[in-house]
Amino acid sequence: MPMYDYTCTTCNNTFEELVYSSTVPDEDITCPKCGENKSKRQLCAPMISTKSTSYSPTPSGGCNSSSGFS
Ligand SMILES: [Zn+2]
Repeated sequence: MPMYDYTCTTCNNTFEELVYSSTVPDEDITCPKCGENKSKRQLCAPMISTKSTSYSPTPSGGCNSSSGFS
């Protein structure tokens, strides 16, 4: 089963959730902290084709956050 990172939009809690399918709607994911089901799945891919948000490259962050050399 795939595991996804979710961020709760209610309490900003970030957690990992094993889902049985990649098509599980976000509404099925319950925040373990506050119990709300208003979580957003975080995409690991750094290239997200959303043109609305300007992509600013940050040295830290992402799923495989390699703490910056130099
Ligand atoms: Zn929450």
